[in-house]
Amino acid sequence: MTASLTILASGSSGNTALVDCEGERWLIDLGLEPKELDARLEDAGVSWSQIRGVLITHRHSDHWRPKTLSRCWTSRVPVHCHRDHAAALRLKCPDFRDIEQSRLFRPFVGERLIPLSKNWRCRPFRVRHDGGATFGFRFEETGDNEVTRPLSVAATTPRAFAYVADLGCWDQTVADRLLDIDLLALEFNHDPELLRNSNRPPWLVHRILGDEGHLSNAQAAELVSETLKRGTSKRLQQLVLLHISHECNSSEIAAASARAALGKSGSDANVFAAEQHQRSPTFVVGEAMHDEKTGRLVQASLF
Ligand SMILES: [Zn+2]
Ligand SMILES: [Zn+2]
Repeated sequence: MTASLTILASGSSGNTALVDCEGERWLIDLGLEPKELDARLEDAGVSWSQIRGVLITHRHSDHWRPKTLSRCWTSRVPVHCHRDHAAALRLKCPDFRDIEQSRLFRPFVGERLIPLSKNWRCRPFRVRHDGGATFGFRFEETGDNEVTRPLSVAATTPRAFAYVADLGCWDQTVADRLLDIDLLALEFNHDPELLRNSNRPPWLVHRILGDEGHLSNAQAAELVSETLKRGTSKRLQQLVLLHISHECNSSEIAAASARAALGKSGSDANVFAAEQHQRSPTFVVGEAMHDEKTGRLVQASLF
């Protein structure tokens, strides 16, 4: 009953991730052009024809491309998004009107669970960001899989993982959604000093630093600490850093913040910094993390 997560692209130029639940493949966001998406999927051993559905976080253009969204119509792939996303999607993607009028349009209903496979569900939850309605996703196993669960994983709690990119701040409600998970993919966007000293215009610096902008390394690290402090199980195995700014951050700086937070919390979870231009290894939820391509155990030093 395994599930896995592969980050196909992460950063301000495009965001897409592949979720595999028991062989059912889903995409989070469509922030790559069709050709590039195909190349990254192929590299991960998956084709577009195997995609069962798409989950959209929000309407910013680094999270969906009109031509890629059009393929959902031509390939009859269901699109799960918030109703507030529809106007923006329709504006730049005429095919979205057809999606909306068909059964392919699957609007979120509060935090109602979205079935992904026999035993896995997705729970969308709101985060604060200036892209209108913006969501993180918690993925949960619902079946009783004690037989297949590794002994190292608490048998009383179902496996779970989460993906949260693009949020300006967090509160206890967001932390609640990230408790007791095996894998967390979370935005570590910027280092505030590098941002303030960058060539970016003051309005943009202000926007990014604001409560509806992006999470700094320190904010993200505090969120990780909070979830580890409040969680009832210490089972986080993998922390994936998302949406790292190439101008105002680096994989090394972000990873150092993440490791410090994990260390203080007594967690030995691996840290991996996702990249813009190449896919991540495939992280199998609740198991030792192996790169499906090389077969090597994924170590923190891989970023
Ligand atoms: Zn955004
Ligand atoms: Zn973004």
